[in-house]
Amino acid sequence: MGKNIYLFFGPPGSGKGTQSDILGKKLKLPVVSTGELLRHEQETKTKIGLIASNYLTNGKLVPNKIIQKILDKRFKKSDTKKGFVFDGFPRSEEQLDLLRARLHKSEKGSKVIAIYIKVGDQEVKTRIIGRRVCDCGAAYHLKYNPPKKAGKCDLCGKKLVQREDDKPKIISCRLKHFYKTIKPILHYFNQSHILIEVNGEKSIKSIEKEIIKNINKLNK
Ligand code: AMP
Repeated sequence: MGKNIYLFFGPPGSGKGTQSDILGKKLKLPVVSTGELLRHEQETKTKIGLIASNYLTNGKLVPNKIIQKILDKRFKKSDTKKGFVFDGFPRSEEQLDLLRARLHKSEKGSKVIAIYIKVGDQEVKTRIIGRRVCDCGAAYHLKYNPPKKAGKCDLCGKKLVQREDDKPKIISCRLKHFYKTIKPILHYFNQSHILIEVNGEKSIKSIEKEIIKNINKLNK
């Protein structure tokens, strides 16, 4: 049987990580976040992590060779048999080609749905400035989604930090890269009639509902 693959797109701070986690939990599918995988390699100081570190800190796209390596490593785990939720991939036309190649080989017969979370630049900046994250992958916002105890992760109690690439100068660079690369990717999924667009400036709950409603429509 084919897998169910969901792809999340959106500018940094659009809430694609939050919505990927919600959808993954709801559908009992693992979330594969290239950003998370890279940060893990960086924190554990692996060879890949050391190479990726400079790109991550400066908000630049990590070379495809490295992305391919971390994905190959991730897909060795057996938890993606029924499908998975992709957060942060593909992020360029070359990566779209990599995905399409996978869909013709190892993921043949899969049902793919792409979800684009639209958020304006000003809102993105406000959100990112307030974003705090934990080593364990949990993310919070000082105003919109604060932790129960200030500065501490609800899930593991560790200290929350601001991502290096969430600093204002780097955000502008990440946004520029995002808009430069996203157009042809969205065009591809739109043409294939598997693209859902949602307004990401609503509450987490209403975006979640909107996504589910649209997925159900496409699955009819
Ligand atoms: P994210 O957590 O999705 O915001 O990604 C954080 C950073 O990880 C990005 O700014 C890039 O430096 C890197 N990254 C994540 N996914 C990719 C990807 N698919 N290709 C290249 N770089 C990526």
